[in-house]
Amino acid sequence: WREVAGDPGAAIGAPSTVPTADDVLARRHDVLAEVQEHYYTLPPRIERGWREYLIDVDGRVYLDMVNNVASVGHAHPHVVAAGSRQMHLLNTNSRFHYRAITDYADRIAATLPEGFDTVFFVNSGSEATDLAIRLAMAATGRPDMVAMREAYHGWTYASDAVSTSIADNPNALSTRPDWVHTVDAANSYRGKHRGADAARYAPEAVAAIDELAASGRPPAGFIAETYFGNAGGVALPDGYLREVYAAIRRHGGLAIADEVQVGYGRLGEWFWGFEQQGAVPDIVAVAKSIGGGQPVGAVITRREIADRYRSGGYFFSSTGGSPVSAVIGTAVLDVIQREGLQENARAVGSHLKERLERLAAKHPLIGAVHGSGLYLGLEFVRDRETLEPATAETAAICDRLLELGVIMQPTGDHQNVLKIKPPLVVTRASVDVFADALDRVLT
Ligand code: PLP
Repeated sequence: WREVAGDPGAAIGAPSTVPTADDVLARRHDVLAEVQEHYYTLPPRIERGWREYLIDVDGRVYLDMVNNVASVGHAHPHVVAAGSRQMHLLNTNSRFHYRAITDYADRIAATLPEGFDTVFFVNSGSEATDLAIRLAMAATGRPDMVAMREAYHGWTYASDAVSTSIADNPNALSTRPDWVHTVDAANSYRGKHRGADAARYAPEAVAAIDELAASGRPPAGFIAETYFGNAGGVALPDGYLREVYAAIRRHGGLAIADEVQVGYGRLGEWFWGFEQQGAVPDIVAVAKSIGGGQPVGAVITRREIADRYRSGGYFFSSTGGSPVSAVIGTAVLDVIQREGLQENARAVGSHLKERLERLAAKHPLIGAVHGSGLYLGLEFVRDRETLEPATAETAAICDRLLELGVIMQPTGDHQNVLKIKPPLVVTRASVDVFADALDRVLT
């Protein structure tokens, strides 16, 4: 493997001495059979990364098909250089305005429609959705929030409360507080609306919001992922968000878009909700890929909403968004633009989806393939009629994939789903390696 990957140490500071992705991949095809002989000790201890590859302490190379944090790939030279330079300049964000942070805020605001002029920085997606909820409550002076069933928004108090996939679990430590009201999960991969169009179910969510308002509890807001990532990588049907956002605003509430998983390019757009669905929220929570691996999150909103929060005396203070995170985040946005990574997400994603659909035609264990861009979902079932989840098989498939050098994890309520989210730099050749490996394992 060292021979295939080169000396991983050489990747740092001297990218020209490292074999190209194509060199590695050409060899990987040759060595697949050889690798099958070697059962890795699980889980691997990863020491470094490069592009869409991870390299463990023994120099084995893995294809990283689940990473949605290092969106521009591991150890991107531009990102590494920006972060290292800032470490030499300054890394604190206590009481002043810092150039790195204000520049980053400007860059973020420039990716959104006009009017989104205020950015709060935090350290993670959970903090971002938590703050978004608090902003909505403070700005409206209301305690109630509407969330979708089967959702995940984070682990801090407020983000956990609206994470219905956890709070509805009878074994969950947290319970759903009475200020959280749920509406049916639109189009989740197992939901009753699977495949339905907005006309059929948006009215249910709208009616639930109307009912709350009529009962004297008009909600502060509605929070949802704009693309239903945690329910298996499923796009919300056209029109759904527009209708629900209109309903929440009719009653004086605010629309919160959780773009933590898919914001900034995974689906081939900066923001799926705005650009594909034409649904403009009032508050947007972003994290993960925006920091290219650095822990950072942001909440973006309009000044009048932020001012209502501040003038209400609500407290916000965070060490989030350090100058190093900020320059790394700015470098990530540069790389996405310069290297055309949104186009790459669309092109490589649709090629991979086609390959997976062909595999589904061949292997009955694949119950469904869904999603778009570089956020695809694949569900394994024992029976396509009953949709009985193939949970044990999914675990075994992931183990076998790992033996073939592909990192993949089971996920979903039944642990029978693969969420396929490689870094946005992933090549067509790499996703072919993944599809070939999956074909081989299923065969
Ligand atoms: N929102 C969504 C949609 C997520 O998928 C996640 C994490 O997976 C979060 C929020 C929480 O982000 P973090 O893990 O950075 O706290």
